[in-house]
Amino acid sequence: MARFPAFRRLTWLVLWIVLGLGADTALAGLAKSPGKGFTRIDELGRSYGLQASGPGPGRQLHLRSRWTTLSFEAGSREAAWNGIRLFLGEPVLASGNALYLSPTDHTAVIRPLLDPLAVPAPGALEFIVIDPGHGGSDPGTGSRQLQEKTFTLDVARRLQQDLVQRGYRVMLTRTSDVRLARTQVTDLRRRIELANRADADLFISIHFNSLPGNPTVSGIETYALTPAGQSSTAMSPRDRTVYPGNRQDHWNAVLSAAIHRKLLAELGAVDRGLKRARFAVLRPSECPAVLIEAGFLSNPAEARKISTPSYRQVIAEAIGEGIDDYGARLREAAAVE
Ligand SMILES: [Zn+2]
Repeated sequence: MARFPAFRRLTWLVLWIVLGLGADTALAGLAKSPGKGFTRIDELGRSYGLQASGPGPGRQLHLRSRWTTLSFEAGSREAAWNGIRLFLGEPVLASGNALYLSPTDHTAVIRPLLDPLAVPAPGALEFIVIDPGHGGSDPGTGSRQLQEKTFTLDVARRLQQDLVQRGYRVMLTRTSDVRLARTQVTDLRRRIELANRADADLFISIHFNSLPGNPTVSGIETYALTPAGQSSTAMSPRDRTVYPGNRQDHWNAVLSAAIHRKLLAELGAVDRGLKRARFAVLRPSECPAVLIEAGFLSNPAEARKISTPSYRQVIAEAIGEGIDDYGARLREAAAVE
């Protein structure tokens, strides 16, 4: 074959096309040249004291220190932080033998994990507003017997008790089975307005999930507001609006990671990932905010667990621990300033 270099080149070309077509469509990110501000992931890792290995044949790159492992894959929006699923706004780009991260994925998704103190703290953590999702004529998801609105209020009350014991002041957006306004839009607005007017240091909205038609899906999703200019995890249309909540992009990421980590550790539930969405209750938040989907009521096994008070207590305590970890980061940041 060496005598026919043109033929060999053609063979490689055909092989490359066939492999390319067979691969995940996410690999569309391959071979593009990184744009302005894109960061070489191995160099980024080294700047934080992490050792890089890869990308190997699977196009995966791992950054490791004694405490942290971050894994990236060419063409993929999914990364992993100490084994926890993490969604980027844009696919990791491959160019030459290096992988690259978009500027916002660097500053608003990865840096908060590697260097939580990189951005000044938004103030001490003293006053927390908990938002039990839905209520009144809006039952949320679930069945007639197992209604989301009932479980969100119960977890909120348990979390309130946990946080008060930890020394925080706490307010709930609702303390009974009521709706806060007539329409869903105004109801959601009222919830975050309550937190903003009360000058909350942290807003936490509690929900349960469902995926009608797919009862096998279960697990925990923790959402922070999508960073400004970035795509949400569910790939909603690109929105370049900078919402008030985007002032906290860094600390939103620190907060959601701390809570998601504890929920997974304490519940042993399926990890559906640290995700980003422009939820109506997160957009206007003036303080760091998070929305938790603490399990699927459409999954019979998980719904049974959620209907058990002791399981809901574990959910509440895990969130409490996550909030306490976040509070510790804030105190460290204040000490550095
Ligand atoms: Zn809900």
